[in-house]
Amino acid sequence: MVIELDGSVGEGGGQVLRNAIAIAALLRKRIRVYNIRAKRNPPGLRPQHMTAVKAVAELCGGEVSGLHIGSTEIVLIPGESRGTSYVFDAGTAGSTTLMLQSLLPVMSFAKHRLSVELRGGTNNPLAPPVDYIETVLLPVLSRMGVRANLRLLRRGFYPRGGGIIQVSTEPVKRLSPIELVEVGEVEEVMVYAYSCNLPAHIVDRISKRSEELLRANGVKDVRIVREVLQRGNSKCSLDPGTGVILVARTSAGAVIGSDALGERGVPSEVVANRAVDSLIGQLKYPVDRHLGDQLIIWTALAAGRSRFTVSELTSHTMTSIEVVRSMVHAKFDVDGKLGGPATITCEGIGLTT
Ligand code: ATP
Repeated sequence: MVIELDGSVGEGGGQVLRNAIAIAALLRKRIRVYNIRAKRNPPGLRPQHMTAVKAVAELCGGEVSGLHIGSTEIVLIPGESRGTSYVFDAGTAGSTTLMLQSLLPVMSFAKHRLSVELRGGTNNPLAPPVDYIETVLLPVLSRMGVRANLRLLRRGFYPRGGGIIQVSTEPVKRLSPIELVEVGEVEEVMVYAYSCNLPAHIVDRISKRSEELLRANGVKDVRIVREVLQRGNSKCSLDPGTGVILVARTSAGAVIGSDALGERGVPSEVVANRAVDSLIGQLKYPVDRHLGDQLIIWTALAAGRSRFTVSELTSHTMTSIEVVRSMVHAKFDVDGKLGGPATITCEGIGLTT
């Protein structure tokens, strides 16, 4: 039997496709996804989505048809995987971290240790910065039993990309559910400010303003990590770029992230303001607005009841729930309204390798 999935549901973006192919590979079910990215302009596959589908197909030893830029329909037939190490290149600044959203569940439930090198953008607009994956997503997923290690070898920015990340995973037998409803007190906020091919004062100004604003908002323990890379350093990107990631850790064990990417013509101080404002607005809840949608697939696969409270219920989260629920017999309950805080409960299926 072939799963038929309408890619225009909910947000109708790439996330529908990413979740769908990961689940199909995990359940070893054939899938046809049509109307891919119907609500995006232009619709259909972009290099990042195409590379993600190709990568999932290779990881699960499957076959795929419909893979070309602009394609609005693909069919994936999972098979048996044998490989242990892979390289996938978006060939553009296509986001490596969005590709990872499809790959990580498949890698984690593989029968053996896997290592994947992804090439493309590492710090893109509208995607998790690689630093967010390292400092927020993976630490939270590790509590569910995910054993993944990420190394950033080179940053990649728009337009040329060229960033490189390496991710290795150990097989999980079964994932534990997660409970993240208490937030507790903020114990510390880490400020990771980075730049490539830009004057050092940018990172200094971003970190200084972030620290001032955090302290003005009552955060006592602020720790700054600066990374200023110039041409000649192997980790330095091809194109210039800068940004900041803030990570709050609380007494209840919550890890809350927020970030901002630098833009030409936007002062460093404004970049800091954006990241801090977003963080301060979310500190009353243990799960930030982006982690919310990223946790959905994992809670559906875990064995038992997960419960978490998000600072903002986004349409991305609702879309993830819709897609995951239609493919996996996990039960979701959402207590809250779109745009406001919400508590999500999920009775996961307890997938085993
Ligand atoms: P498109 O179809 O245009 O490619 P998409 O559906 O692939 O869009 P989005 O739907 O925008 O992409 O999903 C982006 C993903 O990146 C979501 O999981 C979202 O939570 C995450 N994300 C976006 N911005 C950030 C950020 N600043 N920090 C962390 N995660 C982010």
